[in-house]
Amino acid sequence: MTKRNIKKIANNFIKEVRSLYSDENIPLHRPIFNGNECKYLVECINSNFVSSVGKKVTEFENKVAEFTGSKYAIATMNGTAALHAAISLAGVKPNDEVITQSLTFIATCNAISYAGAKPIFVDVDLDTMGLSPLSLRRFLENNAEKRKDGTFNKTSGKRISACVPMHTFGLPCRIHEIAEICTNWDIALIEDAAESLGSYVGNQHTGVFGSMATLSFNGNKVITTGGGGMIITNNDELAKHAKHITTTAKVPHVYEFIHDEIGYNYRLPNLNAALGCAQMERLDEFLDIKIKLAKQWSIFFSDMEIKFVEAIDGNKTNHWLNAIILDSKEDRNEFLQLTNNNNVMTRPIWTLMSKLQMYKNCQTDGLENSLWLEDRVVNIPSSIPNGA
Ligand SMILES: *Cc1c(COP(=O)(O)O)cnc(C)c1O
Repeated sequence: MTKRNIKKIANNFIKEVRSLYSDENIPLHRPIFNGNECKYLVECINSNFVSSVGKKVTEFENKVAEFTGSKYAIATMNGTAALHAAISLAGVKPNDEVITQSLTFIATCNAISYAGAKPIFVDVDLDTMGLSPLSLRRFLENNAEKRKDGTFNKTSGKRISACVPMHTFGLPCRIHEIAEICTNWDIALIEDAAESLGSYVGNQHTGVFGSMATLSFNGNKVITTGGGGMIITNNDELAKHAKHITTTAKVPHVYEFIHDEIGYNYRLPNLNAALGCAQMERLDEFLDIKIKLAKQWSIFFSDMEIKFVEAIDGNKTNHWLNAIILDSKEDRNEFLQLTNNNNVMTRPIWTLMSKLQMYKNCQTDGLENSLWLEDRVVNIPSSIPNGA
């Protein structure tokens, strides 16, 4: 393959980005608040219910449950807290091991650590950039054995109690295959769907394939509550328990303070939920605009013979963050430098978790796809364009 003229590509790209966004500094993803956000916030303030009790929380939970097709949704103060609570609720105990992908945002691994468990890193698929069912199966077949009291890692002797795949940038991973493997091996499945609100596998929303899934409403996500997260589940018991441990595990009583286990104050304040209600009203519209925007980018990059990442057949991505794949790390670095120097934010994909100081001694399966993507993937500005 001939070496590309990255300078020319970057210049054309910058021109295209600047035709979409009028900001001087163009971020990767910015929030849009031109619906009922202010109105609901004022209502909230006037009602005096600004904190962790209030109608907006329930309303927001109901809207998310309905949108995702989950029976229950439990709001939390951020996505990492939701993930920590969900991993604990799934039965992960200190000293257990939890399988996840090395190519993910740090929150996935940190939440596993908060539960006292240690991550095991398997590879991702090149096309979905999410946890690879092949790698998961290979790891389990080579390293694990099923016993009466669970699935154990033959090397470490520890129990492997859960698997946490992540839907990277909104692209659904091969979750049906992953779910089947987890069922066969008796491992709890928790989807990190922080990036995939509005992404579908067939006609099912991401996050409904395991016992629980978690969402994030951080400022850079598809919709935002400032900070916020959600646990979604179809399981009655887990939903009840999730609400309980994220609200300090207080036993309902008119005046007594009785808490029946170590709970967390992970509640989403009513103020943030008010934003969430307004944002949910706009979600379909945001997603439509993001599809159109992605089509435009897809044409632009196909003209340049650069791979623009799309969902695999049968799946639908929310196009949270659009991504391209360059030929080499050198090309990637040159592109990143040229665009960022021109105040157009582009970012490489995350440094693999297995390379970070805290996680570099964790067990891994072959990570060739993760390593290949780590060198080449670039995220481009993906916000709703001005005036759209
Ligand atoms: C955003 C995100 C989270 C949660 O992040 P918070 O900022 O805590 O809401 C978790 N996992 C992934 C993959 C994310 O992108």
